[in-house]
Amino acid sequence: MQSVDMIIKAPHFYTMAGDGVGYKESITMVVDRGRIIALENDSNIFREYRSENILDLAHHAIFPGFIDAHMHTGYAIMRGLAQDTNNWMMYGLQPFDNVLTVSERLAGSKLAIIEAIKSGTTTIGDFDSNMEGVCSFIDKIGVRGNITSTIREAKRRVYNPGELYEFDESLGEKSLFENLRLFEKWNNKNNGLIKILFGPQGADFVSKEMLIKIQRLAKDRNTKIHMHLQQGDRETYQIVNRFNRRPIEWLQEIGFLDSTLIGVHLTDAENEEATLVAKSGASMIVCPGSIGIIDGIVPPSVAFQVAGGDVALGSDQAAGNNCHNIINEMKLVTLFNKIKYNNPESMPAWRALRMATIEGAKALGLDNAIGSLEVGKRADFIAIDLNKPSMLPVFTKPMRNIVPNLVYSARGDEVALSVVEGKIIYKDGKIRNTDENEYIDTNKYTSGIGERAAKEFYKIDGTNAKFMREEKL
Ligand SMILES: [Zn+2]
Repeated sequence: MQSVDMIIKAPHFYTMAGDGVGYKESITMVVDRGRIIALENDSNIFREYRSENILDLAHHAIFPGFIDAHMHTGYAIMRGLAQDTNNWMMYGLQPFDNVLTVSERLAGSKLAIIEAIKSGTTTIGDFDSNMEGVCSFIDKIGVRGNITSTIREAKRRVYNPGELYEFDESLGEKSLFENLRLFEKWNNKNNGLIKILFGPQGADFVSKEMLIKIQRLAKDRNTKIHMHLQQGDRETYQIVNRFNRRPIEWLQEIGFLDSTLIGVHLTDAENEEATLVAKSGASMIVCPGSIGIIDGIVPPSVAFQVAGGDVALGSDQAAGNNCHNIINEMKLVTLFNKIKYNNPESMPAWRALRMATIEGAKALGLDNAIGSLEVGKRADFIAIDLNKPSMLPVFTKPMRNIVPNLVYSARGDEVALSVVEGKIIYKDGKIRNTDENEYIDTNKYTSGIGERAAKEFYKIDGTNAKFMREEKL
């Protein structure tokens, strides 16, 4: 008998192996030293393996942990302050974003990461500046991190409509240096639990020379570039005026579209442009909730998939999404595309589940480690409690309703257990190595942020200032 770290029994396993959801009934999974080492019928398992840690999850379904591929976790300190308005960045975000301190953003990051874990996310795809605190926090609680540090050359100031960004080469070099420093310190830390990616904020925010340089650095280090791609008409305007090409067309010309690139949003991309990116081998992250709320647009993720590309899901940011719950994103990507195409078959629940698991892992280049439950892969999985009202009743014949109920009915509190790299990081509402005060405490920052933001908030006098006057908030 071999002694192992953990044995997991459950009536339903969704392994996500193969082209569907890889359903297996009443099997047992064996985990040792962070990896799945067996996945088969009980009788065989208990003859060969023993463990002091047997999880008998009698009314649960097991899934691979969810991947939230694109987040700006620090923005959670501004949750609910920037929705329902045109020009989200200027009229919504700016008065608050301009006054935040690094420690306030880190408090937001902890809140967002905890929120994400509580609804089944086991891979955090964060993108921002000053990521040292985030790396330390995710290292402490043991969640998987796919971390990107922002590289930007455009000066941070208010630009008038139509004005081209002013570049400062030293800003670009400084932020690139920080990305490299983070890579040296954290990449592959803790058995590969943390990965560091390169993060030009967008093709419009850096020079052509910087983009080429970043591409070479990323390829040399065998990591990816995580970049906002044709994320709005502002970006398109900047690139058209600088290079006389739309962003995707221009990036193809300079050789930037290939499998090193993970493009986020494609908000302003036509289906043909999305197809071009997919065929280049680059992947896509779609953030349905965020782009729906801040732009009122459904990005071309279905066209990207039709062209053979892999698409991951992201929750983006809580200032205008307003949550980090990948179950919500699964529901929205299906719903929005059913409405966009006037066709309930255009995006089924199982496909959204693949985007949150194995397809998402492929999009990030992590599918050799995570995204499905298969022998040899890392043991990242969650248990969904099927006794929660939103998951009841459970049908298995003539069809199973667990996947549709997870995508269309669940809200996150159905997640009973989360395991990353064979270690329990979340169980019965508690997150490992942290206490509730670390996130409830964000309330202590709000009056200070409000006071500092008030002057610009009233000066800009945007939609939310009007809503306050009219007693609509
Ligand atoms: Zn973003």
